[in-house]
Amino acid sequence: MSINNKRVQVRHLPLDNNINGWSALLPARQASAPLRGQHQADWLVVGAGYAGLAFARRLAENRPQDQVVLIDAGLVGDNASGRNSGFVIDVPHSVGSTVAEHKTANNYKRLLQAGTADLKDLVQRHNIACDWREQGKFQAAVQPELTPAMEAYAKSLETLGVAFQLLDKTALAQRLGTSYYKLGIFSPGCVLLNPAALTRGLAEHLPANVSLYEQTPALRFNFASPSEVQTPYGAIRAKNVVIATNGCAAQLPGFANQLIGLSTYASLTQPLTPEQRQRIGDPQDWGLTPVSAVAGATVRYTHDHRILIRQQVRHTPRATNLALDTSRQVSQHRQLFLARFPELQDVDFEHSWSGLICFTRNGAPKWGEIGEHVYTSVGCNGAGISKQTVAGTTLADLASGVDNPLVADMLALGQPSHLPPRPVLDLGVNAYLLKERWLGRREV
Ligand SMILES: Cc1cc2nc3c(=O)[nH]c(=O)nc-3n(C[C@H](O)[C@H](O)[C@H](O)COP(=O)(O)OP(=O)(O)OC[C@H]3O[C@@H](n4cnc5c(N)ncnc54)[C@H](O)[C@@H]3O)c2cc1C
Repeated sequence: MSINNKRVQVRHLPLDNNINGWSALLPARQASAPLRGQHQADWLVVGAGYAGLAFARRLAENRPQDQVVLIDAGLVGDNASGRNSGFVIDVPHSVGSTVAEHKTANNYKRLLQAGTADLKDLVQRHNIACDWREQGKFQAAVQPELTPAMEAYAKSLETLGVAFQLLDKTALAQRLGTSYYKLGIFSPGCVLLNPAALTRGLAEHLPANVSLYEQTPALRFNFASPSEVQTPYGAIRAKNVVIATNGCAAQLPGFANQLIGLSTYASLTQPLTPEQRQRIGDPQDWGLTPVSAVAGATVRYTHDHRILIRQQVRHTPRATNLALDTSRQVSQHRQLFLARFPELQDVDFEHSWSGLICFTRNGAPKWGEIGEHVYTSVGCNGAGISKQTVAGTTLADLASGVDNPLVADMLALGQPSHLPPRPVLDLGVNAYLLKERWLGRREV
């Protein structure tokens, strides 16, 4: 279904009704003003997460004569891009076994590494203080035996030519300061950071021909020629429109049966005192992902000595997380924290928050030109710092006709497969999450 000539009213705006712990660590910032009045632009980018920011930056560099307007419903750094666990992922998690799956995994690897390199360049060039730490990543199991999932992960890294170390309980305990994990795989390429600081920094250093308006939700779209988008205090007419709203795009025609909106939750402790750090052996900062992405917990020990727990995935078709939804996760996070660090009973959480993510049925992103002068990069599939960055830059190259071999890698990832309509979809997603929680119950 072509999106051209469609008019759409946006029903659900993204809402995370809680304080993002990463933003809370940063100094107060002056948000850019909401858009007011009637505006014209060559390009309108809707959504200032990694995808929208990367698109706006690259497009503006490719076409310095064009005016780019970037709008976001909320505040920069307070979206999922600023609320995540801060792992800049460098290699895909699974490879599969067929030739086609190996090819896709290698495409992903090239893309993720290009996204990471792009971010590193920007962080260095603009001196973005986001605690960029090239610390690698642990994938660790709670069960002692080499489970099929851990074996498959090790095999995937081997196939992709990624160096890794297999670690037993003792080696893990020395490096992590917890003896909770029995088996781990360490790979060196992942970067750890404060995602709110990164997102803010990327927004602060956009080229001069990009105008950013925060707290400016797109409320109505008219995909005409030019397209028109209405916001609370104004409107924009633009020759080209880019949809970079991740799961919120499910409200637009042609997206609904391809995207699944989910949420996940995180808690961050206060910094450990020097004495508390000694209790866990004073390790270096580290990041760990679980064997089961749905049931398990992502854990970080940050450079400033805080512990992050990210756990629980819920279906969120209306893109809304109320305070109560988050508070329900806090006691579970507390249990997970104390199971790993029983010697830190006196360490409290400072903040617990939610964030919206988006999945597709087959893991393919929704990316490319979806109508005349309409482009999109959504469907992050749970990881987006490097992935949505490279998706944004390659989309800008595609849209401005710049030759970039990574465009072919993006196209080779395919398109999302179709989903049944709601409420059948809701039942299916909830059944899938229940199944994953059950299968992963020993890896919590
Ligand atoms: C708790 C948590 C932990 C995670 N951990 C990691 C991790 O460690 N590593 C990793 O790579 N990824 C992680 N992710 C996923 C990552 O955050 C996402 O993949 C990434 O943010 C997607 O980027 P995006 O630009 O596509 O979308 P988003 O960051 O969601 O940006 C979309 C933007 O669109 C805006 N928007 C929506 N509707 C409208 C509208 N109508 N008008 C205007 N603007 C609108 C939103 O406000 C938002 O700013 C995690 C996510 C969460 C929630």
